[in-house]
Amino acid sequence: MRKQFIAGNWKMNLNLSGGIKLVEELWSYIGDVKDVEIAVFPPYVLIPAISELKRKKKIDILLGAQNMHWENNGAFTGEVSPLMLKEFDVTHVILGHSERRQHFGETDQAVNRKVRAALECELVPILCVGESLKEREDGQTERKVVEQVKRGVFQIDRNSIGLLIIAYEPVWAIGTGKAATVTDASDVSRIIREAISEEYDDEIANGIRILYGGSVNSKNIAEFMGSPEIDGAVVGGASLDAFEFSKIVRYT
Ligand code: PEP
Repeated sequence: MRKQFIAGNWKMNLNLSGGIKLVEELWSYIGDVKDVEIAVFPPYVLIPAISELKRKKKIDILLGAQNMHWENNGAFTGEVSPLMLKEFDVTHVILGHSERRQHFGETDQAVNRKVRAALECELVPILCVGESLKEREDGQTERKVVEQVKRGVFQIDRNSIGLLIIAYEPVWAIGTGKAATVTDASDVSRIIREAISEEYDDEIANGIRILYGGSVNSKNIAEFMGSPEIDGAVVGGASLDAFEFSKIVRYT
């Protein structure tokens, strides 16, 4: 049985007091929720304060990062390493988000190095994949997503792949208010699971959680969660409002 997972990707939003307030409010709304894993992904500089807040107030919301480097230390100006994140109780890391691929030139090869580094440090990687609008219109969705998945898990052995979470995030649905249909999101999730099965086997494929991301809100979440192919969501804009995010977590 795959446990549902809801991720709040803050992107480059919120300041220190705003981030703290959001986590405190969110906890007051969802502190009793047991059957869903909930994680927030603040900008790097807010992570130490959120980590401290979690410890002090016993807030059981998971803490993640939006990116990381693949090396543990070294001459990589401006980067943050997996070990640095782990010092602050970070357990999850979003990798290969389309905004990083698009604006920072992240390739599948770089994303794969990061996924491998995360797994080596026992950080849960959330590997983001998804087609652009042009690729969808050209009928290239399956080819693109399968390629990103297979390249993302390249040379990862079956003993460590089980931790991985995959997020299907069509680029055209992110931040546009135009979510994918549940049918499309379910179909692509099934294709992703088949790709994992081809690389590993059915048992591994059936254990891996696949999330949908792209304009999820409290009004459409129930439909996505109603699909047996979809195990949760990555939520961007709607995760910046504690009450709205709590309604997504309590989608029923
Ligand atoms: C995201 O940041 O991954 C995302 C899905 O954003 P939004 O929910 O705003 O579309």
